[in-house]
Amino acid sequence: MSRDVIVLGAGMVGTCTALALVLRGHRVTLMDRREPGRETSYGNAGIIQCDAVEPYPFPRDISTLLRVAGKRGADVNYHISALPALALPLMRYWRNSAPHRHARLAQAYAALSQRSVGEHEHLITLTGTEDLVRREGYRFVYRQRATLEKAAAQARETDQRFGVPHRVMDADELAQAEPALRGRLAGAIHWLEPWSVSDPGALVSRYAQLFLQRGGRLVRGDAFTLRARGQGWQVHTDEGELSAPHAVVALGPWSDRLVRSLDYRYPLFVKRGYHRHFQCAQAPRLALLDADRGLVVAPMRQGVRLTTGAEFAALDSPPTPVQVARAQRLANELLELGPPVETEPWVGARPCTGDMLPVMGAAPRHPGLWFNFGHGHQGFTMGPVAGRLLAELIEGTPPVVDAAPYAPARFD
Ligand SMILES: Cc1cc2nc3c(=O)[nH]c(=O)nc-3n(C[C@H](O)[C@H](O)[C@H](O)COP(=O)(O)OP(=O)(O)OC[C@H]3O[C@@H](n4cnc5c(N)ncnc54)[C@H](O)[C@@H]3O)c2cc1C
Repeated sequence: MSRDVIVLGAGMVGTCTALALVLRGHRVTLMDRREPGRETSYGNAGIIQCDAVEPYPFPRDISTLLRVAGKRGADVNYHISALPALALPLMRYWRNSAPHRHARLAQAYAALSQRSVGEHEHLITLTGTEDLVRREGYRFVYRQRATLEKAAAQARETDQRFGVPHRVMDADELAQAEPALRGRLAGAIHWLEPWSVSDPGALVSRYAQLFLQRGGRLVRGDAFTLRARGQGWQVHTDEGELSAPHAVVALGPWSDRLVRSLDYRYPLFVKRGYHRHFQCAQAPRLALLDADRGLVVAPMRQGVRLTTGAEFAALDSPPTPVQVARAQRLANELLELGPPVETEPWVGARPCTGDMLPVMGAAPRHPGLWFNFGHGHQGFTMGPVAGRLLAELIEGTPPVVDAAPYAPARFD
């Protein structure tokens, strides 16, 4: 039976949800205040990280905590003023990062990331987007032998548990594979199966174009006008009032604000991140994650995109791109970066949850309302599988993965 659905938010997650529904024959309107894929799904590192089978745990060793508290690295920054509001979700994040809990959560996380490449592949084939995609994996590079050895042992363990193919490269192999690297590093772990995208926002736009070609409707409007109306939901769009029996909240980092207005107090928070493009005479061949320093350099259409780690700050507080400055200095040790492409760094926010799992499924107290947000560090990766799962839940057909671990009701 065909359903009428409004999807709020046209990032990777919302666009893929709308697309999955329309491909199954439902009548779908996708609403955003901007063009599709112009926010978080635009600014990420563009890696379809099927290797990311475990969510990032909250660090629990003292030396890392002291380094983070002292804001000494490029990987983490925080605003003291944001900490009171973050205290409860971060306590939950800390608790869930205990090894036994984290191992259990990783099973549910892996179920999504391991299906990510296959689900993207389906959409990439339908959209003919091969020009944006590189299927050669990406590399974690290590400056120190000790950290490389430790990471290689961990990678072996992850491979045994989840089957994540990788290759450990020594200093010579890495230098040969990546001639753009300036100095001699200890080596790398090459994750072989992830894909990388040279313009993440453009991939979302192509998925949105397919959605339109298959009969979907795209409108501009403010999702915060969402109201229960009769047996369904209504929003105010630039083209007038729009109603449907089903509505999906896929507002990425803005989802918390909307679900709070409906009285859902979920442990949601954001980890902001920055990027800046640089001209570069010799770009790296593949995306490189500088594992000892916490930054990524990725060859993109606009230049080499340098992305930073996490900033714990309020979603709308003014940008404080101190990590970009640090990361630029550290990246320059790896590559010869030229001048920046933009005058100011881009800032975005990873939509995170206190148990590291996304929130996907029926809103517990509002019939016809569905949630699809909180994909944290890997929402670009998980968008298509998350969209498919949500479409199957709305239809009531057997879901691609067991949906129970992601059910919103776990927080209610
Ligand atoms: C620096 C950085 C690097 C990253 N690297 C990677 C990576 O390599 N791989 C990976 O998988 N993930 C990565 N991520 C994470 C990934 O980008 C996010 O998880 C993902 O983009 C979230 O997608 P989304 O659709 O949920 O949110 P978004 O892309 O933010 O989409 C939300 C949409 O909601 C819309 N919206 C908001 N408010 C309203 C409103 N009031 N009315 C109407 N519309 C509204 C916005 O305009 C936006 O289009 C990275 C993130 C950052 C910050």
